Amino acid sequence: TLNVPNNPIIPFIEGDGIGIDITPPMIKVVDTAVNKAYGGSRKISWMEVFAGEKAVKVYGKDKEGKDTWLPSETMQAVRDYVISIKGPLTTPVGGGIRSLNVSLRQELDLYVCLRPIQYFSGVPSPVKHPEKTDMVIFRENTEDIYAGIEWAAGTDEVEKVITFLSDMGMRKKIRFPESSAIGIKPVSIDGSQRLVRKAIQYAIDNNRKSVTIAHKGNIMKFTEGGFRDWGYEVAKQEFGAVEIDGGPWCKLPNGIIIKDCIADAFLQEILLHPQDYDVVATLNLNGDYVSDALAAQVGGIGIAPGANLSDTVAMFEATHGTAPKIAGKNIANPSSLILSAEMMLRHLGWTEAADLVLKGVANAIISKRVTSDFSTQMEGATQVGTAEFGDEIIA
Ligand code: ATP
Ligand code: MG
Repeated sequence: TLNVPNNPIIPFIEGDGIGIDITPPMIKVVDTAVNKAYGGSRKISWMEVFAGEKAVKVYGKDKEGKDTWLPSETMQAVRDYVISIKGPLTTPVGGGIRSLNVSLRQELDLYVCLRPIQYFSGVPSPVKHPEKTDMVIFRENTEDIYAGIEWAAGTDEVEKVITFLSDMGMRKKIRFPESSAIGIKPVSIDGSQRLVRKAIQYAIDNNRKSVTIAHKGNIMKFTEGGFRDWGYEVAKQEFGAVEIDGGPWCKLPNGIIIKDCIADAFLQEILLHPQDYDVVATLNLNGDYVSDALAAQVGGIGIAPGANLSDTVAMFEATHGTAPKIAGKNIANPSSLILSAEMMLRHLGWTEAADLVLKGVANAIISKRVTSDFSTQMEGATQVGTAEFGDEIIA
């Protein structure tokens, strides 16, 4: 458990694009909720740190003449203050940086991508019964085919791999022409187990019904199948789960079911029987697909919050990008970042303030005075701006 002072310093990154629209209402909503919940005895001291385009503006170039996209002060603050929140960031073009979000995840070893999927009554949804969807996704954030180990077709590296596989007699068995590009999918025992461990612990702490391991172990036996097997191992060896009817499904002493589902079937399942799924533990690529599909199911990325966690650091963030087309126009829906802040308050143990934020968002949606992403699809709705929607939540 965290030892949180009444006056914690929390670094925030405003973010690029619509970050400038959604960050101020997020801060206003959080400050109001905290003040109301604790009568002024607790207060967050916000500390602005810079990343992305704003960092380039503030810091200029480094000693080597490169743009400062991610200043070391920012990394230091995020590490030192443990809990932080950020808006979306522009991915720099060129300069050898893959993406600022990926850099942050890798440097801070933020191995859990946490995405709660909950439905707020009244939100436009493409499904008939969106209220049946209530899930929490734990996506592994550092491994898998997303690790970035890949080589373009025609490179020396590819040639070496092809020679190696030829020597092993592999090329006789599979189609693998010289013109291939190659990507490597590393999935480790400890990388998988620390993710599943976090998911199971979350299920226990939050009285959830089940944990589903979503994988393609039928095809990728050692990587995705390994993830499944190592996951069950954690449940049995560390949490005392026992097999149901000879396994592989098992049950924790408190009744939480640990099960698994093949990832493609899982995408069908979450549409057809969402009520059967609760906490989900999955690999990086599957988790990416599943998170966006589920976000759409309950109202889209304008209302999808998230967090990236390591064993120490927690960074909360809206899951969408910078949406440059609507940036600076007071149009974007601030719910994604406000609900990320709600997760942050819960992480701090400030449950009363978190509950107030949730209630505010739910009631603002019911009031039908909402941003255009919702108002255009809601009968009888009035379109309001980003800042006004924040005020509606406060009201
Ligand atoms: P990036 O390159 O940073 O990913 P993007 O334009 O792809 O930027 P996304 O955030 O990925 O932006 O979103 C795609 C679209 O979804 C945007 O064009 C925008 O219309 C919509 N969108 C995203 N976030 C919001 C939001 N908070 N409120 C309303 N609409 C949003
Ligand atoms: Mg995008």
